[in-house]
Amino acid sequence: MMTRRINIFNQLFFISISLLFHLLPIQASPVFAAEKVPVVGVVSSSHPLATEAGLSILRAGGNAVDAAAAVQFALNVVEPQSSGIGGGAFILVYMAKTHQVYAIDARESAPQMASADQFIGHSFAENSSSGIAVGVPGTLAGFNALITQWGRMSLGQVMQPAIHLAEDGFVVTPYLAKALADPRGQLMRAPHSPFFNADGRPLKLGERLVQPELAHTLTLIAKEGVSLFYHGEIAQAIVATQRQSRMGPAGWGRMSLADLANYHVFIRKALNFDYQGYHLVGMPPPSSGASTLFETLGLLAPYAGQENWRDPVFRDHLSLQALSLAFKDRGDFFGDPEQMQIDPQAVLNTAFLKQRSHSIVLGKLPSDRVLPPSPSGTNTTHFSIVDKEGNVVSCTSTIEELWGSGLWVPQYGFLLNNELTDFDANPTLANGQASPNQVKPGLRPRSSMSPILVFKNDQWILAYGSPGGPTIISTLVEVTQGLLDLHDAPQQVINTPRYAVMNATGFTLIESSFPKPLRSNLEALGHHFTLNPLAQGSVQAVGLDETYHYYWGAADPRRDGSVGYQ
Ligand code: GLU
Repeated sequence: MMTRRINIFNQLFFISISLLFHLLPIQASPVFAAEKVPVVGVVSSSHPLATEAGLSILRAGGNAVDAAAAVQFALNVVEPQSSGIGGGAFILVYMAKTHQVYAIDARESAPQMASADQFIGHSFAENSSSGIAVGVPGTLAGFNALITQWGRMSLGQVMQPAIHLAEDGFVVTPYLAKALADPRGQLMRAPHSPFFNADGRPLKLGERLVQPELAHTLTLIAKEGVSLFYHGEIAQAIVATQRQSRMGPAGWGRMSLADLANYHVFIRKALNFDYQGYHLVGMPPPSSGASTLFETLGLLAPYAGQENWRDPVFRDHLSLQALSLAFKDRGDFFGDPEQMQIDPQAVLNTAFLKQRSHSIVLGKLPSDRVLPPSPSGTNTTHFSIVDKEGNVVSCTSTIEELWGSGLWVPQYGFLLNNELTDFDANPTLANGQASPNQVKPGLRPRSSMSPILVFKNDQWILAYGSPGGPTIISTLVEVTQGLLDLHDAPQQVINTPRYAVMNATGFTLIESSFPKPLRSNLEALGHHFTLNPLAQGSVQAVGLDETYHYYWGAADPRRDGSVGYQ
């Protein structure tokens, strides 16, 4: 009954917003858009100009795949601290006509000279700001493969909006201004770096960021294709740049021209999970995101239908425990598929889940020691798109930490990732076994990035995901519960304050807005929390309302999230 009332309320809200949007066809703020039959589609990304880039491609006759490429290249320009051609991405595509899902792995890979001990003896800060952490970038190859296989437009066409944004510049938003002022922004000090003004201070809110080097690079690639990046002059510039180290002698990069020339995109078999009448699809390894999310949901499934599931104390008490258990399996079993000893679906097997769920305690928890997590990036970006034909893209894309490695490729204007720090720095696990996520030549580091698609009765209904390193997994547990268990309004679900379980010992971060009474009730049950000084994640979602069959979009106000539809 409760669920129903909420749905009706949502519908009224959607209709009023929808009427408003007839006057304002492109909405560049983190609010709902709703339209029964969109003229071109719905785009939700973490920057209004990237959202507009996607819409402009849909308007010009491109499909969701073409729009996704345009959004990604535009994000390289307007959100350079989070993703770009110097990084990697996971992309889920649903093609409505054939009803097929494709999982594209454009993750960075370790160079042939990489070794399991390469991070030992140096601090995380040193490693993560040195060429030693730079993986062979996959984003450009990934989006090129995507549009070649499933798009309608050329690379040149989908790059146009990004080229204009880099050439003409754009106004620095609050989120970008904050990232520029962050100490990691200082790592990018290089001659001609466009992020600093003539006096050497980082650009501020309201100032214009113009990136002529990046415009030049994108124009070259648009004309000559991606081989320039993987074989030509840009490959040489990448190899030269990753031979640097920003903070101490952690070690120069070991990438060679051959590593770039041999980079390949994988189209992998997606991970599937049935949950409460829904069919969820996610990225398989080297991502651990979907498997850890699905395992958590599987452990909680016996409780999710109960009346008291709406009670956040009950729900979070069990969810925090289920997440810790799933993080344990993530650490023990997950990495690049080539070094995993189990099939990723094994942790989703009914018998395994049943046996594992016996460790969930309904009453007060025994007092176990909570250990801090290993350092990791909390950046990256997620966008979701549906076009008028019902094709869908859900993509999470990264350069790992804020501003990646901080190594900016001179004359070409993009940042190199520090993704290889997602490998375990120590090749041996605490239990003495070999880590399934140790650095190995040619392999890809374990990720938490989890673009998700949801289907009901064979009908696509949802696409979502988030940045935030390991916090992604808790963010998506919370969002999935809000949308699929509680049927709350998507924007309300996204805005809700978050927690993040960070490891198997239950180390848990909470946002400063996390409700105090909920926190004390959970503490009384034996949970421990650490305040997260940062906002957690940035969820961008699009969906098809199950009851009234209109498309909607929702974006996260924690960054510059923006929904556009037309
Ligand atoms: N490198 C992280 C991962 O692949 C993503 C970093 C982030 O989301 O900020 O899980």
